[in-house]
Amino acid sequence: MLFDSPLVVHVPHASRYIPEDMRRDFLCLDLDRELLLMTDLYCDELFDTEAERILFPVSRLVCDPERFRDPEEEIMEKVGMGAVYTRCSGGLPLRDIDALDREMILRRYYDPHHQRLTEAVRRRLLSWERCLIIDGHSFSPEPLSHESDQTTPRPDICIGTDSFHTSPRLSERAMTFFRRSGYECCLNRPFAGTIVPGAYYRRDPRVASLMIEINRKLYMNADGERNADFQKTVEVIGAFLDMMKEEC
Ligand SMILES: [Zn+2]
Repeated sequence: MLFDSPLVVHVPHASRYIPEDMRRDFLCLDLDRELLLMTDLYCDELFDTEAERILFPVSRLVCDPERFRDPEEEIMEKVGMGAVYTRCSGGLPLRDIDALDREMILRRYYDPHHQRLTEAVRRRLLSWERCLIIDGHSFSPEPLSHESDQTTPRPDICIGTDSFHTSPRLSERAMTFFRRSGYECCLNRPFAGTIVPGAYYRRDPRVASLMIEINRKLYMNADGERNADFQKTVEVIGAFLDMMKEEC
């Protein structure tokens, strides 16, 4: 078996890629800056492991797989940042999109991604009777204006949990690991929650999930270049994922 563990690593926001045919929809004057602010840059390298990984292939500015598909369910729709963003993080218009474009984008990127994640979980349950999803993100050292938690200073590592899918033991293991590695660590602050595919959400306790959000100051500078601690951070996250593979 190629992926010999119940672990699935989900990295939804690491891509900066905007397909050529979509670039013309963007009104944002400084798209590079918006990409720098919004992308979880290098998270594909930081959350590297031999476990199965589900990476989103395009930028979250094209489509954000971590938002609810239904606008009624998604709280970030009110700032134009639901599954298909229409506003920049600073509130300015991002792009001009109608309902038909939105649906086309969701079918092209959102639906296949969720199918892949659901399928990865289904296969883990078949083989192992359990699955652990690690949802890998990073966040800006300073709060961005659209973010609901504006508290500073921000921790080094934020661990997101779900009351049904994250056992206290699992979140404790993660907190202890990162604290022992020398990081300041918070639970569900500044970001709460962790992804679980809809088919299993609050239904199947065999599916565990944990979000790990890394403060970008631990691995890059404000221009998006790797900093001196990059390799150390790669090693710590790698060791954490190895531990999770053994634990889950
Ligand atoms: Zn993210």
